[in-house]
Amino acid sequence: MTENFLQISKMDQIKKSYLTRNYILVAFAFFSLLLYNPVFGIKVNNVKELNEALDAVKPGGKIILANGIWINAEFLFNAKGTEKAPIEITAEEKGKVFIEGRSNLRISGEYLVVSGLVFRNGYTPTGDVIAFREKEGVYGNHCRLTECVIDNFNNPERFETELWVSLYGKNNRVDHCYFVDKRSQGVTLAVRLEDKAGQENNHQIDHNYFGFRQNLASNGGETMRLGTSPNSLTTSGTLVEANYFEHCDGEQEIISNKSCGNTFRNNTFWECSGTLSYRHGHDNLAEGNFFFGNGKDNTGGIRIINERNKAINNYFYKLTGYRFRGALVVMNGVPNSPINRYNQVVGGVFSNNTFIDCDYIQLCAGSDKERTAVPFDTKIENNVFYHSTAKEIFTAYDDISGITFTNNYLNTGVKPLVDKGIQVVDMKLVTNQTGLAAVESPGMHNAGCTITKPGATAENTGVNWYPHKSVELRFGTGKEIAVEPGENTLAEAVNQSKPGDVFVLKTGEYPNAKNIFIRNAVTIKAAPGAKPVLTTEKNSLFSIENEGALKLSGLEISGAKSPDMAGNSIVTTSKYSMNRNYKLIVENCSVKDLDVNYAFDFMKIYKNTMADSIVIRNCRFTNITGHVLELNKEYEDLGIYSAEYVILENSEFTDVQNSVLTVYRGGTDESTFGPAVKITNCTITNCGKGKRNPGQNVIYLHGVQLAKINNLNLVESADFRLFLTNGDPVTKIDKLNIYPEADIVSNNKKYELTNLTHQAGN
Ligand code: CA
Repeated sequence: MTENFLQISKMDQIKKSYLTRNYILVAFAFFSLLLYNPVFGIKVNNVKELNEALDAVKPGGKIILANGIWINAEFLFNAKGTEKAPIEITAEEKGKVFIEGRSNLRISGEYLVVSGLVFRNGYTPTGDVIAFREKEGVYGNHCRLTECVIDNFNNPERFETELWVSLYGKNNRVDHCYFVDKRSQGVTLAVRLEDKAGQENNHQIDHNYFGFRQNLASNGGETMRLGTSPNSLTTSGTLVEANYFEHCDGEQEIISNKSCGNTFRNNTFWECSGTLSYRHGHDNLAEGNFFFGNGKDNTGGIRIINERNKAINNYFYKLTGYRFRGALVVMNGVPNSPINRYNQVVGGVFSNNTFIDCDYIQLCAGSDKERTAVPFDTKIENNVFYHSTAKEIFTAYDDISGITFTNNYLNTGVKPLVDKGIQVVDMKLVTNQTGLAAVESPGMHNAGCTITKPGATAENTGVNWYPHKSVELRFGTGKEIAVEPGENTLAEAVNQSKPGDVFVLKTGEYPNAKNIFIRNAVTIKAAPGAKPVLTTEKNSLFSIENEGALKLSGLEISGAKSPDMAGNSIVTTSKYSMNRNYKLIVENCSVKDLDVNYAFDFMKIYKNTMADSIVIRNCRFTNITGHVLELNKEYEDLGIYSAEYVILENSEFTDVQNSVLTVYRGGTDESTFGPAVKITNCTITNCGKGKRNPGQNVIYLHGVQLAKINNLNLVESADFRLFLTNGDPVTKIDKLNIYPEADIVSNNKKYELTNLTHQAGN
């Protein structure tokens, strides 16, 4: 059989070689087609092959990045397509090409289309993840970034400034991308106008899904920025259309507009803390946008500065933001303002907008000794303002005679700001045919927003092949795990934790010779009726690491077995920069005997860390040689701070030698929301009087933007000190009972104090 098969006749040989030659020709033609045919494209497996393919690529060509993980890949897509025949660089399969490690992408040249890539598990070696340039002066023009994902591609150093997308050049488009979980400092997407080659750019940013961006607690947390102040009087001409912004909470400016001639159309802002801010530049238009606050803190609408900026036919729903974060904010300017300060509002037009249950409309906002130029030649017309509960929603901080009000409507029960131009009518809150809250009244004519549903949604933006990510750290979503008393049982259990796990402790002692590292959302609680006691032989019991959140409930925590060294603590943050905000909740706990050596704190934080919230509820703290909470490690006065919400409720603090609470936020920057401090029903006895507390403050709030104190008893303790700075902090103190010696001390009197009981010493 084999022999017969191998015995090939001469004729067969001739035939065979003829056929082989034909096969080779056909195969050559086929592979040529693969190499050069735009339909098939050329597949590359590494950066070297990609660069070779780019050298050979012709207009209409297509280069395909092979599925898999591309690690430490610095891509430079430098090629020239044509309008009719662009060059495409794409993924073998969308969502299966992952760019990881220290990687980035530069797009330079003309008519290039990049699609299908996912950046994750890493960060850029340069200042941008994706830049539309090779280097200074060498830009991409007529290029498009579409259907790409950047997910948590962040420098571990919180304040290392990095941008995710930098748009240089002209006529570029970013569309249908999904950007989620930007953490470190730097704008998510920026339009760069540094030179003429980027001005009058005609860029288009559309149908992108801008997902969760955590509160940075500093300037530099914008989701989008167009221009910078030095070039803010040049025209950008960018269209920002039909994008979906969800929980973009980086700072006060969701979008910081710093250039002229931009259009923001039909975007949806879903529960975003901050505003679309016309920070600099003239002749910008916001039209047909939807702002849904849904009652979340610091949600805002549109903030106006500069000339001929307009907001027309927009919809605003349940926005709570105050001052610069109001639903509509018209700022005061600085006379002859330097370019980086505040230009006067001139020729502003705000018409046909609908505001439903929005708490604050702020006019002449920011009025102070420097910002004295009031709005001029500005129109507020054909708007509808409805509020179901508030008696007052307008605040005028200065002279509003430069604002003309025409044909605006307000519902009965809310106080109009001016006699003419705001008509009070009975309105009915209804649900329109698309399910949106709307108002009706026979008394209203030609007013309010005419668009009845948002054009941009989570479904019609971004990509459909990458899961939407929920980033919130949540307690109690994992398993319940019983932990027996004994040496290190808790440390060993928690060090294996999965997100949301709950560790349930019994009556007995839990001594720990090891640190307990909190690397995700962990709850440690007593079983019903149980009395577990936790001690540690380390300098600290719990260390909250990046991605961590800790909830303690029903525990007794004793410092009695801590090492005989100064500076112990029960909870610390990571000692290193944390790019993820953490949470700490302590409830129904008794914390005592933190008195082994001096400066024993309940909590010790480190620089470049940030808490979303620190909550102490129904707790007793007794006998502590250091602080309970000392949140003052951002000392450079750059407006950076360490915790957004600090809440003390129904708790007692006794014999704490240093302060019970110190919160420090220095500097004059106005980009952030917090910190916010709330103290309710607390008693502080014999605290703040140790010799290592030179300020002799039991509570020290410096630069806190919102403080609400209700029913606080200070018994034989040191002073309650306030340093009120930075704009217009809100400080409300009700039912403060001070027993001998102490006082409330403040740098100014801009706080509300009601029901002070001050009992002099005997
Ligand atoms: Ca900013």
